[in-house]
Amino acid sequence: MFQSEQIFSYISEHKDDLFIEKDEDIYQELNNLVKKLSLNSNSYIWVTNGNGALLCNSRENADDRFFEYSDLLNNYVFKKPEYYTRFVNNQQTMVECSLFADEINDNDEVSVSFVYNYKVLVFNKYPPLEVDILIYLHTSVIEMNLLKRQIMLSFLFPLIMALSIGTILVGLISIRVSKPLVQLNAVANSVRSGDYKSRATRTRRKDELGKLADNFNKMIDEIDKLDKSRLSFISDMSHELRTPMTTINGFISGILDGTIDADSQEYYLNLVKDEVNRLNRLINNLLLLSKIESEEVELIRTDFDINTVITQTVANMENMIKEKNLHLDIHFDEKITFVNANEDDIERVMFNLIHNAIKFTEKRGHIKIYTKVRKKVTVYVEDDGIGINENELLSIWNRFYKADKSRSADKTGTGLGLSIVQKIINNHNETVSVESEQGKGSRFFFTLKISENL
Ligand code: ADP
Repeated sequence: MFQSEQIFSYISEHKDDLFIEKDEDIYQELNNLVKKLSLNSNSYIWVTNGNGALLCNSRENADDRFFEYSDLLNNYVFKKPEYYTRFVNNQQTMVECSLFADEINDNDEVSVSFVYNYKVLVFNKYPPLEVDILIYLHTSVIEMNLLKRQIMLSFLFPLIMALSIGTILVGLISIRVSKPLVQLNAVANSVRSGDYKSRATRTRRKDELGKLADNFNKMIDEIDKLDKSRLSFISDMSHELRTPMTTINGFISGILDGTIDADSQEYYLNLVKDEVNRLNRLINNLLLLSKIESEEVELIRTDFDINTVITQTVANMENMIKEKNLHLDIHFDEKITFVNANEDDIERVMFNLIHNAIKFTEKRGHIKIYTKVRKKVTVYVEDDGIGINENELLSIWNRFYKADKSRSADKTGTGLGLSIVQKIINNHNETVSVESEQGKGSRFFFTLKISENL
């Protein structure tokens, strides 16, 4: 298109020289222009008039497959009128045609031809001369194919490269991602079937999958711990229940079969009553423990005076204290100390700690209860009783743990009191500790949050 415009603008600029003067130099110049354009565009160009006479040709000689010399016109003209007539007066300026394909294709590699149709009006004559100009542009198939291939290569190669690299990367990433997931799945299956020993392979990966594997292992650790504690709970429970049951069964059987004579029966029935009471306490404590454990989710706090709770708890236990002739000393750091906690729970903590102090202190021993108010309130329950062996200091908080019974001053305990204390205090996000020396006494103490509203 661009070449044909250039050729046509040259022709219309020099129309007088070309069509009236028939200036050889101008024809030569036009020829040079056509050759130049042909070289630049790798095309083969003819320019003819509306009668099929060759005005210009990008090659040296007229192509004798299409042109023949006409003596009459003193020029080369198209052999067949069909090569030009249908383009003259065509409304379109550009026509794509395969008109020459048959003749050219076999050896001259040309198949695509464009014919541009223009009109030049020469006014220098009367009547004005109207000249049809036909510009034929033939493009080499080989050139076109080469160009196509070049374009393809310039796009296709990077495309194939990008696709291959993409595929390899996706493959590598999916292997990297799927391998640990497959392994996690295998471990999950083992855990599901009750095997808590397998663990996801620990890697040095810091990404989400690495974190997932770590958390997964932590979760199995927790499940494993929970399962072990469940099993030990069941076995401890069975043991705790079996002992009194055996005793009760033994005494009642003895009474029934007459092994225990009538005089001793009351004594043994009292022992049975004690055991039944202990079973009752055990079950109550277990229910309490499970209630506290579920409270973890929602702890209902109120503001109350801790001094009042301590005084009331002590008052309720007055009989026990008196029975053992214990000296009780109570001291509050401040007259009133409002704390923010669950009152029932704290009452239970106080009861359990004071009860233990009474149980594990010899007659006429001393018990001291006092508070210290700093950023928090610390409540102390101190006794000069039997104390706790250093090796047992950590175990006393465990469920069902009771220090060596043969030494113990208490044969009726359930071993749940301190577990309940610890659970309650932990639920409050506070701490409970013990200091003790065997034979000298113990000091249990826990913290509480001071009420902010008062
Ligand atoms: P229980 O009192 O029902 O046996 P606890 O959980 O309250 O259960 O206590 C666990 C164990 O801790 C007791 O059996 C006892 O050996 C020891 N213990 C608790 N408080 C004291 C204390 N004040 N003095 C000495 N030993 C104590």
